Amino acid sequence: MIQAPKGTRDVYGVEMQLWRHVEDLIREITTAYRYQEIRTPIFEPTELFLRGVGETTDIVQKEMYTFLDKGGRSMTLRPEGTAGVARSYIERGIASTPQPTKQWYLGPIFRYEQPQAGRYRQHFQFGVEVFGGTSAATEAEVISLGWTLLNRLGVRDVTLHLNSIGCPGCRKLYHEALRAFIDAKMDSLCGLCRQRIEKNPLRVLDCKTPSCKEHLKDAPSVLDSLDEECAGHFQGLQQLLKTFEIPFVIDPRVVRGLDYYTRTVFEFITAEGLTVLGGGRYDGLIEQVGGQHTPGVGFGMGMERLVNMLQAQQFQPTETLSPQIFIGHADEAGERKAQELVYFLRQAGVKAEGDLLNRSVKAQMKYASKINAAHTMIIGGNELENASANVKNMETGEAEPVQFDNLLKFLETKAVV
Ligand code: ATP
Ligand code: MG
Repeated sequence: MIQAPKGTRDVYGVEMQLWRHVEDLIREITTAYRYQEIRTPIFEPTELFLRGVGETTDIVQKEMYTFLDKGGRSMTLRPEGTAGVARSYIERGIASTPQPTKQWYLGPIFRYEQPQAGRYRQHFQFGVEVFGGTSAATEAEVISLGWTLLNRLGVRDVTLHLNSIGCPGCRKLYHEALRAFIDAKMDSLCGLCRQRIEKNPLRVLDCKTPSCKEHLKDAPSVLDSLDEECAGHFQGLQQLLKTFEIPFVIDPRVVRGLDYYTRTVFEFITAEGLTVLGGGRYDGLIEQVGGQHTPGVGFGMGMERLVNMLQAQQFQPTETLSPQIFIGHADEAGERKAQELVYFLRQAGVKAEGDLLNRSVKAQMKYASKINAAHTMIIGGNELENASANVKNMETGEAEPVQFDNLLKFLETKAVV
């Protein structure tokens, strides 16, 4: 038997309905916020991610699906969504349209990770990207968009963790403080952290190893190294979030895994400690991938982690595929009429079903009940002659004759969803 690659999933059945529900809400909310959808390629030149994600990150160092195409070019399946949108912003001249540019995407992301709960080799991210917004109102807007989605879905037990890692100037100061703190503990940190402290000290705070977490508990806070402007920006954001009545906690431990962040970083974290949505400001990114200096703010949200949470909360999707009517047949002539009526009803947008297996009438009725048909109708010679058949309400068991010509109107009056 051929199996799906390790760390990948099939989304189908009731779970797919949940995804659809989330996606419908994403479309509704992003429209209210006036964000445009963007679809970029799922593979890009490897160079884009080396520059846009950063050589010191876990993603670039060990998680990328990189291959040579038949022309000998190094390509990479996208390990995150922002770099492609940034490339497009520069390449398509989007910078010369009215600013800010506000876009969203939803699509597969590929990372060679050790598969475990909520961690896959292909996962889907919903993300938003705003380019050109300088004020803290930009972060407030983006955070409120994510919060609105989680709220409207009825997600419980998720907390917004907020931090600022300042500008490169503040960070230089902080790196010194952090280095001094870590130098004393160097021997007790994992090998990865000892490398990180050289290349990108902030990443040490993002280490998932429990012993490292413990040793870094009393690390100095980046918030103490913010200059006046960065501190003011962070204050402005907090005030707006209070105005929106969006609860948050300040968490100097949130630093995000990617190199390109400046100032604001945030994560929505579940009670189990899983991050469903993470983002922040990245004012250096567009320059990093070859454009003019342009501020950027955005987030990425893991669809699987969100849907897992909804499932754990016993979330019931409202939309079902249960037919409003099952039209079966008792003989060959009846079958043709039944299929014709099913076709006609579907053209009118009614969920209708017929028999495709040449089953007996009894077996057809059993099937209709299994798929939760609201009504059933069986057509045979007699019914054909009268151009009318009994429609049975499957819930009450009551039946009444309905003319074929009146079937659509009849079902509309029943207003079955
Ligand atoms: P983590 O710290 O959990 O590895 P990350 O910092 O790598 O997360 P991001 O790159 O910010 O995550 O991705 C945004 C979101 O995408 C995450 O918050 C998470 O919900 C989801 N995500 C990231 N990696 C995976 C994965 N391998 N499988 C499923 N979802 C993922
Ligand atoms: Mg990761």
